[in-house]
Amino acid sequence: MAHTDHLYSELVRLLREAALIGSCGSVLSWDEQTFMPGHGAAFRADQLGLLAGLAHERATSPGIGELLSELERSSDLGDADSDRVVNIREARRSFDRQTKLPRRLVEELSHTTTLSQQAWVSAREDSDFAAFLPWLEKMIGLKREEAAAVGYGDGVPYDALLDDYEPGMTAAEVQRVFTPLRDELVKLVAAIQHSSRRPNLEILSRHYPKTPQIVLAEGASKAIGFDFESGRIDESAHPFCSGFGPGDCRLTTRYNDHHFNSAFFGVLHESGHGIYEQGLPRDSFGTGIGQAASLGIHESQSRLWENFIGRSRSFWQYLFPTARSAFPKALGDVSLDEFCFAINDVRPSLIRVEADEVTYNLHIMLRFEIEQDLVSGKLKPADVPVAWNEKVTQYFGLAVPGDANGCLQDIHWSAGLLGYFPTYALGNMYAAQFYNAAKRDLGNVDDLCSRGDFKPLKAWLNEKIHRHGKRYRASRLVEIVTGESLSHLPLIAHLRGKYSELYGL
Ligand code: ZN
Repeated sequence: MAHTDHLYSELVRLLREAALIGSCGSVLSWDEQTFMPGHGAAFRADQLGLLAGLAHERATSPGIGELLSELERSSDLGDADSDRVVNIREARRSFDRQTKLPRRLVEELSHTTTLSQQAWVSAREDSDFAAFLPWLEKMIGLKREEAAAVGYGDGVPYDALLDDYEPGMTAAEVQRVFTPLRDELVKLVAAIQHSSRRPNLEILSRHYPKTPQIVLAEGASKAIGFDFESGRIDESAHPFCSGFGPGDCRLTTRYNDHHFNSAFFGVLHESGHGIYEQGLPRDSFGTGIGQAASLGIHESQSRLWENFIGRSRSFWQYLFPTARSAFPKALGDVSLDEFCFAINDVRPSLIRVEADEVTYNLHIMLRFEIEQDLVSGKLKPADVPVAWNEKVTQYFGLAVPGDANGCLQDIHWSAGLLGYFPTYALGNMYAAQFYNAAKRDLGNVDDLCSRGDFKPLKAWLNEKIHRHGKRYRASRLVEIVTGESLSHLPLIAHLRGKYSELYGL
């Protein structure tokens, strides 16, 4: 064994230990949101706080820094895309980011996040922005400090925050695709609003008993390739996916007896995330190759299954007969076309998480604009409601009746997640690009879907995307898989094609 082999094995051992501590925290967080009794909250916060501290201590231990420096000095590591070089690069990236943050800032961020989220929950309930304002001010101040500590080269402070979720991406690069995407979306939304066709939404709010909903959603999840031997689906107030580690990935959803979409499409969405987590190389747990490329790439996987497959006519050619026999009263008199139109309803709305495939990205752009101005200092936190409401009118032609349905609707800013929103829209664009490449490589994907044969597509995603983990930056992964760089055009082509047909444009 060469000298560097020993150093590298030791580095991987330390990285794995830190990741194991982190994954223990994930189990406890999952339990907190699914089964934990209410009175367990304070004790759980202590448990999670201890684990977060231990994980941070491990991840920033001088031992890791020394091993990294020694390894980086050696010249026999292999090519830039090899597992070893990628894992060293990613370990360096995360080590530097974490050690650049002073301990005081890390603790203050963690403490403020807990309190600020509590303040946000009650402020949203009361639609009382003034009650949340001091927390927002504090959080923005801390995130600006974080950006300054991390550094942002020639860019802007926002880049340092965005980089945490979408490595290598900058605000300018996001803007480059967002501007033309926005222009096209605004035109498409206007055309849809002028159409005389409207779906019958009433069919989706009929009575859908919970038990058959579970059977249908879990059946679809299994059919597209989520492995229930290595994962499970439970219930929580806010759906999420948490990959604990090899062989254990947890999804959650929520069931509403009078709304078909929420559980079914929520499960497809989270299953897309879960299939990605399950497709990461098991023996690379704790290292870069064992982690998702970026949040945008993660979201591309959920959106691909939820929207490109799950809201397509061919998917429902396969599943509608099953859905009908599961809900004979609700769907007995509904045709496949009526159903497909209803699940693809497009209309300007106030709430992001309930938005359709077309208007969704406009919700993201509005947030992206506001949070950039907050981080740069151009917009004062106190002026967020006014800025928000103006943009909602500009983008959607709607008036915001209260901040609960406006700037208080999302948890992100209270949780310190600034720079996170753009990854959702990036995910939609990456999904469209990947979907085109899949069709190029696999032939008639619609035909496969209408027969319920999702294996070729799932295997393609495993092979082209999942198994690489963080080997390539998102921008390069897209180029390697599709032959093209990040672009809004495939998404626009997909939306135009689909909605022109549905709305007769
Ligand atoms: Zn998602």
